[in-house]
Amino acid sequence: MQVWPLRFRDLDDRRTILADDSGAYFLADSGFVKRYARDLLTPSDKEFLRDKGHAFEGEGDLAHTGFLTRWSRRHHVGDGTAYVILIPTLRCDLKCSYCQVSRAPLAAQGFDWDEETLQKVLGFLDGLPVEEIQIEFQGGEPFLRLDLLQAVAAFARRRFRSVRFVVCSNLQSLNEDILAFLESGDVLISTSLDGPHQVHTRNRTADSALTEAFLGNLERVIGLIGPGRISALPTIDMKDPPEPEELIAAYEGFGFASLYLRPVNYQGFARKSHPTARTSATWNAYYRDFIEALIARNARTGRVMEEFYLAHCLRRILAPGMESHTDLRNPNIPTGKNAVIDFDGQIYPSDEARMLARVRQVDLAIGNVVDGLDQEKLALLAPGHINNFDPDCIHCPYQPFCGTDPIDDLSRSGRIDVPSRESWFCQRHLAIFDLAMELLYSADPEVEFTLSRWLGLESLPQSLRPVAP
Ligand code: SF4
Repeated sequence: MQVWPLRFRDLDDRRTILADDSGAYFLADSGFVKRYARDLLTPSDKEFLRDKGHAFEGEGDLAHTGFLTRWSRRHHVGDGTAYVILIPTLRCDLKCSYCQVSRAPLAAQGFDWDEETLQKVLGFLDGLPVEEIQIEFQGGEPFLRLDLLQAVAAFARRRFRSVRFVVCSNLQSLNEDILAFLESGDVLISTSLDGPHQVHTRNRTADSALTEAFLGNLERVIGLIGPGRISALPTIDMKDPPEPEELIAAYEGFGFASLYLRPVNYQGFARKSHPTARTSATWNAYYRDFIEALIARNARTGRVMEEFYLAHCLRRILAPGMESHTDLRNPNIPTGKNAVIDFDGQIYPSDEARMLARVRQVDLAIGNVVDGLDQEKLALLAPGHINNFDPDCIHCPYQPFCGTDPIDDLSRSGRIDVPSRESWFCQRHLAIFDLAMELLYSADPEVEFTLSRWLGLESLPQSLRPVAP
């Protein structure tokens, strides 16, 4: 019998998580780890490894083929859907302290697509080799150029078999035309709700009346299209983070059942006003406290609020093929199918890459809508977007579930060859996957209540929590 290589990581001084390259994992004590490391596995150890798919007798047998199938499904990215972010304008009517894109003032000239750029963008979309697409409008404030959104939507509905639009809006100003645009079932809204009134005001505008207007608009939009078509995200300023209970209550108050907790992103404008966001050393502790408060509250109220990112990480652990979230994929090679088209027609591999160009740190444009994609640059960026050969990741049991973010490394450290374990991306994901594993193996009924609801299960079956003898 041959055992596939196993990587391991201590959850605490009694328990170790082990996983193979296909993402099959289990929990063991130090006795098992020593026997595995010294090649002293007992017959029952071997039987366990064979039963759980970590070993095979010969190439091509069922266990071997099963492993290869799981491994390749973990690495298959892309199901023929394109995900394109469009920036029709960089202008914005707000000036939030954590803005990551260096927005342009409302009256500024030269920060919107002109007619020629619009036509080139439509031509770029037309040339994508897909029939399904998600188009996200960002800015600036995209609704300042509703006419451009309408033109793209009309074209995309004709061109693609399946299409979905997400408008990332501050919802500060609404009018009848915007509300009419939202009525279409294929239009979703993504907006920021940073918590209770005073926290939202402090983060965004320092103007209570503006917050009042936003909250009124949010209520109006929810009334029109329902909370299911709106995702709201809190951006947490670690200098003065909101109390978890207050933040969750603010979301519940609007009928939301999910939130996506994010720290201030060390990009664009936010770099000046939030210099400490570069490391955010306290983020992991805050995140853990938040999840504990969320789980306790769900059990207490019987209602289920989801924290999107942890739920997504759990799904990635439990099943191959969960690669719809572009921030956590492996490999995550830049292509035209996942691109950002800026206000000036430049094309970037990600929104973060666009921001690095805005602050003039490095130009990561991979082409433009006039000349098309620059294949040389795409090839240059590709190796940084796969974690299988990273000297740290190859020893990490979370590698099959994790991703890469060389653009974030570049932003924070000025280089992409930072040892992974020292990077913010890695430290954040080690903490999240540790937490996910602790929760999966928890015997606490409150934890089981939340996790099973997030995963759409009645209860957590034992098969999701294998333990070595
Ligand atoms: S980035 Fe960190 S957490 Fe992710 S696979 Fe690599 S070592 Fe593990």
